[in-house]
Amino acid sequence: MALITQKPKGTQDVKPEEAYKWHTVEKLAADTAESYGFKEIRFPTFENTKLFNRSVGDTTDVVQKEMYSVTAKSAANGKDPDDFTLRPEGTAGAARAVIENGMLNDALPQKVYYVISCFRHEKPQAGRLREFHQFGAEMYGSALPSADADMIAMAKTYICRLGIKDVELNINSIGCPKCRAEYHKELKNYFEGRKDELCGTCRERLEKNPMRILDCKSPICQDIAKDAPIILDYLCEECSDHFEKLKKMLKAMSIEYTVNPKIVRGLDYYTKTVFEFVSTHIGAQGTICGGGRYDGLIEELGGNSVPALGFAMGLERLIMTMENEGCDFEQPKRCSLYIAAMDDSALEKTVVMVKKLRDEGFWAEYDLAGRGLKAQMKYANKIGAEFALVLGSNEIESGKAMLKDMETGEQTEISLGDKFIDNFSNIAVAKMFSNVLEDMT
Ligand code: ATP
Ligand code: MG
Repeated sequence: MALITQKPKGTQDVKPEEAYKWHTVEKLAADTAESYGFKEIRFPTFENTKLFNRSVGDTTDVVQKEMYSVTAKSAANGKDPDDFTLRPEGTAGAARAVIENGMLNDALPQKVYYVISCFRHEKPQAGRLREFHQFGAEMYGSALPSADADMIAMAKTYICRLGIKDVELNINSIGCPKCRAEYHKELKNYFEGRKDELCGTCRERLEKNPMRILDCKSPICQDIAKDAPIILDYLCEECSDHFEKLKKMLKAMSIEYTVNPKIVRGLDYYTKTVFEFVSTHIGAQGTICGGGRYDGLIEELGGNSVPALGFAMGLERLIMTMENEGCDFEQPKRCSLYIAAMDDSALEKTVVMVKKLRDEGFWAEYDLAGRGLKAQMKYANKIGAEFALVLGSNEIESGKAMLKDMETGEQTEISLGDKFIDNFSNIAVAKMFSNVLEDMT
């Protein structure tokens, strides 16, 4: 029965002492997206399997090998079996949601973001999980290269605000269906010559979608792909002009990039611009952000012909990078005051004071484990309380108590009357400022 206390392979628990790291990346994601004019969208964890087949693409690793698909038990003998898949990414679900909710009939562009869990049946390793999390953003309704520049700028701003420094931006253009046809022919010719050396999946891809071979993780296929023709030599005028304008804008914004013609991205729906941010700190799974333009997707899914683009970042990989680079995380709330009650009448007063403090936003704590005074003070220390108060019959009678600074041991008399919250608040704030000043000098 050990299985019931073991999490599924490739999943992670986030313990309370790690959760504040997640708050940091999630809050900054929302804040950055909102300053770029993106609004949050939420959509289901599972969708009809067909949505992913159609959008992510039948020849991709994600659809061919990695999807978690489920059929409801009750549907198995029904006429219309439901075939659902846990979302392997967010672009498809977000696109489905904006189409279904008529959002593309409003003024364009529409800009949305999401922070979601995703599911892929992959071989678990550092930075590669079966349940992972993405911060994604999508923009619908702009065909202009400035939209691509905007999207890349937002990803970069976010990465910088997290404090991540060692990151490289790779960009490429994979053209449109028009110019890609010619390129596919050339690519097919090239790989045809070495067909026998390719992996089984890539031999199949050769017929349907030779560009996928460039994205294969097998070292042999990667080696063969090294000398393959590159798409940039085949771009039509429109695609090439779009790419030139994008590069110009990135330069103007001082966003450094490398043109990497090998980037084709793992999903089928991309057109024109594709990009990746790669961390040089977390090893093989260094891609922290992938994105690009997908002008054909909305129409493919049954919407109007609306150009679109987006990116997605892996939150686990971002946190790993931040840890490795020693970036700052937002700190969890500290316990401001521990009140130790010596007897029942002090306890009555304590619960009232603790409640009032909590109502004002302080973390106040008292004994819930039946500990003696000494053990209570030890516990207050363990949870990192900044101040402690001991309440006994003397204190209740006199209406005054000694407030102990747990770091310095310094004691200050404080009145327990109506002004208690104000007085305590003043002392706590003064201490916070003196700590900040100390840190600065
Ligand atoms: P990779 O090449 O690493 O497999 P991908 O091209 O499959 O990535 P995307 O589909 O573009 O990745 O997803 C966007 C981001 O989500 C990736 O850059 C990565 O940060 C994160 N990501 C993707 N798959 C996983 C996974 N299995 N575990 C953790 N993070 C992931
Ligand atoms: Mg992948």
